Amino acid sequence: MRVDLFTIFPGLLEAVGSESLVGRARRSGLLDLRIHDLRSATIDPRRSVDDTPFGGGAGMVLAPGPVFGAVEAAQPPRPLFLLGPGGRRLDQALVRELADRGSAPGEGFSLLCGRYEGVDERVADHLVDDELSIGDYVLAGGEAAAFVVVEAVARLVPGVMGNEASAGEESFSDGLLEYPQYTRPAEFRGWPVPEVLRSGDHARVARWRRAQALARTLARRPDLVEARGGLSDDEVRLLAEHGYSAVSPRSPEEPPRREPHRPRRS
Ligand code: SAM
Repeated sequence: MRVDLFTIFPGLLEAVGSESLVGRARRSGLLDLRIHDLRSATIDPRRSVDDTPFGGGAGMVLAPGPVFGAVEAAQPPRPLFLLGPGGRRLDQALVRELADRGSAPGEGFSLLCGRYEGVDERVADHLVDDELSIGDYVLAGGEAAAFVVVEAVARLVPGVMGNEASAGEESFSDGLLEYPQYTRPAEFRGWPVPEVLRSGDHARVARWRRAQALARTLARRPDLVEARGGLSDDEVRLLAEHGYSAVSPRSPEEPPRREPHRPRRS
């Protein structure tokens, strides 16, 4: 899969893009990540990419010249997304859509990182295909957002994750949050791992996990349950078997949610 990134801080993206899962995917040839410096298309000696906003106001705006120049020189895979808080919100369905785009060699997508107060609107109007946001908050630049997109997509590219099965069971893969996970030791500071997970009974474990995923999603993200059309009769029965009511899904087995951390006064 080819992914092209456009930024004024190529070093930042090279650094995060050379480590861990994304770095391994690049080295193994599964991910062809190309990072382009927007300054490469500047024509003035100071290599400036920004200018003051027409109409006045605070800050600077990324100028159209360097952006059009860098994109036209690179001929990146489309769609090209401008990253920005006003764009289409990234979710797992969109991540999957982007991962599926890379099924043929050279295919993929591209991301343009804004900076300053944003990017000249003619880039949105005449160069990019769409706009993409990673959430309702404002970052200083698109680089952190670009890496979020790249990492989320890369882990769905076949062969990138060691255990292909794990992506299929994760949060959002079927509209639910994932069940709780535990590892050794079986008891830590007096808190035991649920007995069913040590029973060796795979069918029981699978039912417990499904019930936990349903209960957790109902408690924390009822909007997800609603979006998948509510609960089936089987799911309501499964919840009841595990001590949950579909209306009030918290069971005595599940520990109370922690309060947000408050610093201690000295
Ligand atoms: N003035 C802009 C506004 O109010 O919408 C915010 C500009 S922000 C300081 C600079 C750049 O960071 C944006 O052009 C965009 O590329 C990136 N950015 C900020 N928040 C983002 C988000 N939630 N998702 C994706 N990119 C974001």
